Amino acid sequence: MLNDPFTNAQKQIDAVAKHLKIDKSTLTKLKTPDRVLKADLKIKLDNGKVQTFKAFRSEHNNARGPYKGGIRYHFNVSKSEVKALSTWMTWKCATVGIPFGGAKGGIIVDPKILSQGELERLSRAYMRAFYKYFGAWKDVPAPDVNTGGAEMSWMLDEYEKLVGHQEPGMITGKPLELYGSQGRTEATGLGGFYVLEQLRQIWKDRILPKNTTIAVQGIGNVGYWFIEFAKKAGYQVVAWSNSKGGEYKREKITNEELLELPVDILVPAALENVITKDNAGKVKAKYILEMANGPVTPEADEILHKKGIVSLPDVLCNAGGVTVSYFEWAQNNAGYYWTKADVFAKLKAIMDQSFKAVWQIYTSKKVNPRLAAYILAVDRVVQAMRLRGR
Ligand code: NAD
Repeated sequence: MLNDPFTNAQKQIDAVAKHLKIDKSTLTKLKTPDRVLKADLKIKLDNGKVQTFKAFRSEHNNARGPYKGGIRYHFNVSKSEVKALSTWMTWKCATVGIPFGGAKGGIIVDPKILSQGELERLSRAYMRAFYKYFGAWKDVPAPDVNTGGAEMSWMLDEYEKLVGHQEPGMITGKPLELYGSQGRTEATGLGGFYVLEQLRQIWKDRILPKNTTIAVQGIGNVGYWFIEFAKKAGYQVVAWSNSKGGEYKREKITNEELLELPVDILVPAALENVITKDNAGKVKAKYILEMANGPVTPEADEILHKKGIVSLPDVLCNAGGVTVSYFEWAQNNAGYYWTKADVFAKLKAIMDQSFKAVWQIYTSKKVNPRLAAYILAVDRVVQAMRLRGR
């Protein structure tokens, strides 16, 4: 299959392997999730009928720490997709150096047609199916597409009933009232803003906030907070959009037009695969910050790189979210809670350090920024595997 996500994830590992000394058996391990779990979840609908939903959990690699990754509810969820997403989570956690491996889960369902009660029964059924594999020091799930604090709370409650003790660090993305972290809402947008500020440090002469224009596709959680922090710092956010279309200098534009605007910085913060080989040639921005997951296809990446456009990858730009999930887990395990200012300061330190590490490889190896981040991440994972004797 040409666009099979897991095949793409495996091809990326092959591309990275050319830059690192990786033996064949390690390479095979990196290209295969440690474990892929499947279950048929049977729940009673409000109309009394029983319906079955297919569910997955892919645990890719835990050499650097417990598996970590969200659970999505979507009708497009597939085994290949969760395997690919679990692989990318391993690289994201390693890029920012947080002590987790990678995982991802999902249920094939259109959550919009389920009632609250049905969603609760489905979330509890997911936990019953896989709870033996979850735990603060085993595999730590989180929200993803169409899941949030409510699903995490039901899952935590079900897990604790099954294991017979409290363990809030077994899941992140919980509401503040149930051991969530301060600053999680802003985390992903703010992490992206810290990346932008690092870029400015490098190019002080080229990036002056008041002269720097930004277009943001998608003003959901991520786009909204990115814009808030960027505006506060004086950047000129001249275009934005949502699923219905956007605005540029008070004129209506389409989402496709937004991607081709003559701005300095383009921020895709909505969907995957929006910059492809078909429109990459028309992108006029000088920098792209990938705040969505996978907005630039691999072919587009190469076109942008050849055009001299710096496209900073999702594993770096949107890692603020998983970093504050790590903080939530750390606070839960310590039973000691931080202020929002503490969270933001610690997030900044991690984002700054990670940007510098990726930038160093990008400039020294002259590869595109995504490959640079992957080289950093895969090397960290391979080193941990070697030390463990795997
Ligand atoms: P969200 O649901 O809050 O917002 C999504 C935004 O995209 C909305 O403004 C929506 O109107 C817009 N949108 C939907 N379809 C669109 C279309 N066809 N064209 C343009 N815009 C469209 O989601 P979010 O949490 O902000 O996540 C956005 C992206 O960031 C996703 O790719 C997600 O996987 C990624 N991400 C989110 C987080 C997080 O912490 N929320 C962390 C890492 C990555």
